[in-house]
Amino acid sequence: MKEILVDHNQKNYCIYPRLEIGKNTSECRFCKSNSATYSNLSHSLPELLGNKSIFTINECDSCNSIFSDFENHLSRFIPPSFITQIKGKKGYSNSFVKGGGRIFATSNSIEIESKPDIFSKEVIISNQRFSNVKVYKALLKCLISLLPDQEVVIFNDVIKWLISNKGFRDFKYPALASIGYRLPNLDNKELLSVTLFKERSKDKLRYVLSGKFNNLFLVLPFSFNFKEKATFQTIPARSESERFYFQEIDFKDYSTQHKFKLNFKQPHSQ
Ligand SMILES: [Zn+2]
Repeated sequence: MKEILVDHNQKNYCIYPRLEIGKNTSECRFCKSNSATYSNLSHSLPELLGNKSIFTINECDSCNSIFSDFENHLSRFIPPSFITQIKGKKGYSNSFVKGGGRIFATSNSIEIESKPDIFSKEVIISNQRFSNVKVYKALLKCLISLLPDQEVVIFNDVIKWLISNKGFRDFKYPALASIGYRLPNLDNKELLSVTLFKERSKDKLRYVLSGKFNNLFLVLPFSFNFKEKATFQTIPARSESERFYFQEIDFKDYSTQHKFKLNFKQPHSQ
């Protein structure tokens, strides 16, 4: 049985259909404190993924500050803005080129500021190193933030781990995700589309968060079946500009840095 819990499909960034998750009660959905403060507006999905319209109102300030550390690691994990074309809180992220210069996206172009010789060589862009457990926690937090209140209790043990300092040694569930990139295409409209659904059968309970953020596609399955392996299938695209290239990630066994190779060399000049 498949049940859709949240479906937020926003094709145009100019209109913000605001969505608020959670009841306006004194109890925080994460730490369960009854005396917490709620002066910050808590985004259900980080602003660095372009979310400006979905908020979780029962996330307290102290949990919010724990999660902002996780989001800092998530920002190092996701590809640079010249691929994703995502505009975050501080605008489009810069990628710095060794030896000087930077590459970044704008709303309708990819800008390259560099000494002229960049165009005759191969350039490696290195994101800052990230903590796998914090990146996974940032994504898991998104899934829990989008849950309707009555579903949160099922995750209480997972939430205890989420807000603790504990790592994967104390986490008995699979920590899997799939990340897809699409080639930047200036004709594509800005896109934010998020779906959370639940699958339940006799011996299985699984939640799947699926989010499209311009050229970035994230899929996070969470299963209460410890031994389950998730498999991902790519839906064929109609054209190259719509095709997403997926990579499956097991955060318990993954690298801590992403590098991107850009080749400006003209084929005939080699
Ligand atoms: Zn809290």
